[in-house]
Order: sequence, then C-alpha cells, then structure tokens
Amino acid sequence: MKLSELFLPILKDIPSDAKIKSHQMMLRSGMVRQSAAGIYSWLPLGFKVLKKIELIVREEQDRAGAQEMLMPTIQSADLWKESGRYDGYGLEMLRIKDRQDRELLYGPTNEELITQIFRDNVKSYKSLPLILYHIQWKFRDEIRPRFGVMRGREFLMKDSYSFDETKEGAILSYNKMFYAYLKTFERLGLKAIPLVADTGPIGGDLSHEFVVLAETGESQIYTSKKILDLKIENFDNSEQSLNKMVKAYTETYSATDEKFDQKEFDDLVKKDDQLITRGIEVGHIFYFGDKYSKPMKAVVNSSLGKNITVEMGSYGIGVSRLVGAIIEVNYNNNIMKWPKTVTPFHVAIINLGKKNDETCKNKAQKIYELLKNNSFDVLLDDTEESPASKFKNFDLIGIPYQIIIGSKQEIEQYEFKEVGCEKEILSAQEILKKLKIIYFN
Ligand code: ATP
Ligand code: MG
Repeated sequence: MKLSELFLPILKDIPSDAKIKSHQMMLRSGMVRQSAAGIYSWLPLGFKVLKKIELIVREEQDRAGAQEMLMPTIQSADLWKESGRYDGYGLEMLRIKDRQDRELLYGPTNEELITQIFRDNVKSYKSLPLILYHIQWKFRDEIRPRFGVMRGREFLMKDSYSFDETKEGAILSYNKMFYAYLKTFERLGLKAIPLVADTGPIGGDLSHEFVVLAETGESQIYTSKKILDLKIENFDNSEQSLNKMVKAYTETYSATDEKFDQKEFDDLVKKDDQLITRGIEVGHIFYFGDKYSKPMKAVVNSSLGKNITVEMGSYGIGVSRLVGAIIEVNYNNNIMKWPKTVTPFHVAIINLGKKNDETCKNKAQKIYELLKNNSFDVLLDDTEESPASKFKNFDLIGIPYQIIIGSKQEIEQYEFKEVGCEKEILSAQEILKKLKIIYFN
C-alpha cells in the first residue's frame, strides 16, 4: 500500500476530550472516529489491527476445541424474561420495540440465546462436551462511556459458552478456556494475569478476570510479583497439565478490589512480594452450573439415563478493548511500536529522497515490489512531506520495522531499523531474509 493512497486522516493536535494515551493515539493516527458517545467507526488502520487481534483470538478458541458460529446482535426480550434477567439488567440494556410493538434488545451478552439454541437442538449427553463461540458486536448503555474503545457502548466481544454433563466436565472446559486465554494474550504481546473476580450480573460461583497491568487501567489489583514469573509455555492443554497450570496461577493471592481482603493479602503474600497496581480487564470467565439451564429448561438425557440440566460456563474477551490495551502498553514517549503479531503493516518504507530524486524513487519501488511479491504487507511512504513530518507520522502508525531510503546511500544498500533499536545497513535480499525470519518463522 502506498501512503499517498491510504485513507489515514492523521491529526496534528491531541484531541482535548481524549484523556488516556491509547484514546489520543487512536484518534491522532486515524484508527477510529467517534460517531456517538461510546460508538466508533473503525477506519482502515484501526480495522486492520482489530482484525488481526480477532484472528488470534479465533485461532486459540479453535485450538481449544470451541466451534465458531454467529448469533445476531438483536435478541428477543422474551428469552431474557425466561431467565429472569430482563428486569435485573437495568439501564445498561438497550431496549427496542419493532413496528409490531414486540420487545427486542441489542445483546449485551448471549447466555440466554445460546441456551435456547442448545435446548432446542441437543437432547443427549452424547453431544457433550460442547463449546460454542462467536465474535460479535455488543451494546451496553454504559453510564460513563470513556477512554475511547476501552469503555465503549458498542464493542466487539468474543463470547464462548460451554455445555457439560457434570460439574467435573464443566471445570475441565473452564480450565481449557483459562489456558486458551493466557495463550491468546501472550500472542498479543500482553502479560495478562488471572484474578479471582466477582461474578456480577452473569452470576455463578467460579470466576476469573484476566487483567493487563497498566497504570491507566480501571481495576485496582492486589497480587504477588511471583505471578509475573509464570510462563504459559511451560504448560499444555492435556487435562493433567491444565490442572497444574490453574493451580500455579491461582495459588498466589491475586484479587481485584471487590474481592480484596487486607488480612488475607498480608498473610499470604510477603511484604516484599506484594504488587499493588492497576490493570485493564481484557477477559472474564465464569462457571455458573445451572443458572441459565435450569430456568430455561436446557435438559439432556445423561449417561445414566436420567434427565439432567446441563452444566454451563461463559467466557468473554474484549476484542475491541484489546486494541486500546495493547496501545497503553506499547505507546511510550509519543512513539508506538505494535507487537509483530498485530501490526497493521509488516514493514514501512520511508523514502527521504527529494521530490525529483528518481534514484531514490526507483530504489524504494524496487524493494517495495520485492517485499510485496513475498507476501509482506508493506506501507510505502511516497508522499512529499518533510523527513521530520514523515518520521512523526510513522511514530504514530507504529509499524515495528522501517526501511529508510536516502540520497547519500550506496545504490544497493538500505537502512533497516527495528523501532527503538540500532539501524543496520543491508541489501534488499538481506532485508527480505531477515523479515522472513521475523514474521514467517
Ligand atoms: P467491566 O468491568 O470493564 O465493565 P464487565 O465485567 O462488565 O466489564 P464482562 O461481562 O466480563 O464485562 O465482558 C467480557 C469482556 O468484554 C470484558 O472482560 C471486557 O474486556 C469487555 N468489555 C466489557 N464491557 C466493555 C465496554 N463497555 N467496552 C469495551 N469492552 C468491554
Ligand atoms: Mg467482567
């Protein structure tokens, strides 16, 4: 892609209503534009990142054995009356009436709808265990939408739902999701820690929030520094390893302020190991047994020949919030550096040659073609802005690797640079080889 052709409305000034750096950066770099309070359009640059995050979330769900489907954004109020949540959900739910005066709502979550689909189609334990998920827009009429996509009203969520015959089976499904979440966040370049959490309006008796440590986060976190040393690659998704993993991650005290207990904290975590900080909730998992299956009569014939209500859990990831969380962690001193797994482009080519410098232009075009032909997504700056303003734009766009072309270089040599690291002088073929190792190995 050529920068001169990319729809990228960069703002020179920091928008005054954007209070945290991810919100400022997303507006300035033209990733999103607000359409109404807490409701955003995703412009090409932002949409590319959103899609890449979505892909990683999807891959890890599929690997955990979950099956993707798609439920609608609009649901019937009747279902929510069956579960008993219609009145309790309060003002956060956007309630709508159609022309026949039927009550509808814009889904804030999908426990009811998935339970209906399950009960109408599954009759026997032989279809279990089953985990279904979708990645769909949700609407919650948040009292204070703020921080851009971090707390929007319309936001993209991945939500999975597990169905099991027994409680043990349901805990295994829970542990599989626990593992998939840690893998997902690691691939996104984030250190997310699981914390014992309140179950809120979803309900149930076992629940963990996954929180990315960041000063601007809305959640207060109490944990032990030791949790930061745990590595998900030391575990796999066999049942035995899953049990070990959950034990390792949950035996250290960690809690959000709703569950925090000072005495327990002091008893379990030595003063020197205590870590009190803030974080961004990027995922939340729940085991809630028959909370929905009972009132909604999701019954299957068990292996013992009895009718039983199915054991359920639900598992959410804030896909659009993750864009903000990744920026909070990786945007420092006005310079963005996307993790290579989600960067909007693999590499930037910045031509600093003067307007009429055909040699520079040809050189830029040559390496651009070479990289494109080798499946790289390349952004070529072919604009006529000053070098200073070009670099400023790329600080915002955040592509982690840059190829810089100037008139003083040897004809076959290019400057190659990873953002934040020393530059190297390399040939086009050497750059190609390097990028293949970085991205496709
Ligand atoms: P929060 O405590 O931040 O309001 P929640 O606990 O109400 O979130 P869940 O029902 O657990 O949210 O939803 C699953 C995930 O969806 C959350 O972990 C979060 O990443 C994301 N999410 C929830 N609300 C929003 C929102 N208003 N904007 C963007 N993402 C959200
Ligand atoms: Mg939550």
